[in-house]
Amino acid sequence: MSDDTYTPAPNGWCCFHCGETFPFTRGGYRAARVHFGVTPDWAPDCIERRTKPDSILLDEARRARIASQQFLKERDEAIQAEEIAACTLASWKRAIKGAPTEHEARCAFDSMEGRALAAEAVLAELQRTAPDALTAARIAVAGPGTYYPLTLPSSGDRSAVQ
Ligand SMILES: [Zn+2]
Repeated sequence: MSDDTYTPAPNGWCCFHCGETFPFTRGGYRAARVHFGVTPDWAPDCIERRTKPDSILLDEARRARIASQQFLKERDEAIQAEEIAACTLASWKRAIKGAPTEHEARCAFDSMEGRALAAEAVLAELQRTAPDALTAARIAVAGPGTYYPLTLPSSGDRSAVQ
C-alpha cells in the first residue's frame, strides 16, 4: 500500500470533518467529488460552509458559473475550428493524393508549383533556342491540333523566366 492510499471503510468514504459518508456507487463518487473537491488541495465543502460567509460563497459560485460559460464557449469554438481544419485537410487530401496532413499537402503543392515554374522557364528557353523541337514535342505529348504558342516575355524581360 502506498503512502497516499488507505483501505477504505466497507461503507465508503467518510469525511473526517463532518462525518458524512459516501458509498462506492456512481452517486457516491459524484457526491464525494462535490464534498471533497476535484483535487486534494480543495477545502472540503463542509469546511468552506462553516468558515466562509454566504456572500463569499455566492460570489465564488457566480464566478465559477461565468468561468464555466467561458469554458463552454471556448470549447465550442475549438470544436468548430477543428471541424473547419478537418474539412480543409480533407480538401487538401483530395487535391493531393497521399498527403496525410495539411502541412504535407502544402509542401507537395509547393513542390508542384516549383516544378511547374521551372518547366515553364525551360519551355521558354526551348521556344527561344529550338522552337521546332518544342512544337514537335508538344504535338507528341498533347496531340496534333493542340498546339498553343508560348507567350514569351520580351527580350528585355528575360529575367522573368530564369
Ligand atoms: Zn465534511
